[in-house]
Amino acid sequence: MVAPLLECRNVRKDYGALAAVDGVDLSVHAGETIGIGGPNGAGKTTFFDLISGLTPASGGDILFHGRSISRIPAHKFLPMGMARTFQVSSGFTSLTVMQNMLVSILFGSGLERPDLRIQTKHRRRAAEQLDRFNLSHLADTEVAEIPALARKKLMVATAVAHEPKLLLLDEPVSGLMPPEVDSFIEMVLALRKSGICIVFIEHVMRFLMTVAERALIMHQGKLIYDGAPAGIASDETVKSVYLGSA
Ligand code: ATP
Repeated sequence: MVAPLLECRNVRKDYGALAAVDGVDLSVHAGETIGIGGPNGAGKTTFFDLISGLTPASGGDILFHGRSISRIPAHKFLPMGMARTFQVSSGFTSLTVMQNMLVSILFGSGLERPDLRIQTKHRRRAAEQLDRFNLSHLADTEVAEIPALARKKLMVATAVAHEPKLLLLDEPVSGLMPPEVDSFIEMVLALRKSGICIVFIEHVMRFLMTVAERALIMHQGKLIYDGAPAGIASDETVKSVYLGSA
């Protein structure tokens, strides 16, 4: 059997007496698209922070391509093949869309001292990425001026500029209107087709149900569901959590 792309073994994160992530075991295989849901405070973002090296685990181990990454600093993750977006739109708001893409391409290389001279090949690559995400028409517009949907797409575009094997998206469609969610769904489905492994957190169930092939539900730091998205609604444990009796 092929080794998992990402493996979490009994991973935990304690904040004092609170177990924000409480002994999670998970194997993610190349090409999978996984959606993580669960109530507020369930531990989803903390779990992403652990996977992407932003916070150290209190216990357990995380392996990427079979190698422990628990002690590797976060800035090494992109060149290793793991990219992530955040709940709140990031990016340099006073720079243009093209400049943001160029910054991502130059600084995401993982080199201790990246060569900051912008060369034709960098511009070409940036233009290709913007084209792929239908952002070319906004290339010369400052990020502060572009619509919310375009900003969210730009975050994904900069994250995948280095062709990661694993893409983590934290609440990618939060705050978008339903037609914008549709547009984002199309974009993620196209990414999925390209073979990249995508793990995302999302409260918008329509997005999760349409995009994910496998769903995880977290509650009080634990995984309480791991299976087909279609099975969530009829799962007794999930129902009891959402109806408030767990
Ligand atoms: P949401 O859906 O609202 O984003 P979540 O499932 O992502 O929630 P987390 O943000 O991971 O949940 O939080 C899990 C728990 O850990 C919460 O009780 C939160 O208050 C707590 N927590 C998160 N970060 C810290 C921190 N730095 N210090 C103390 N407690 C924290």
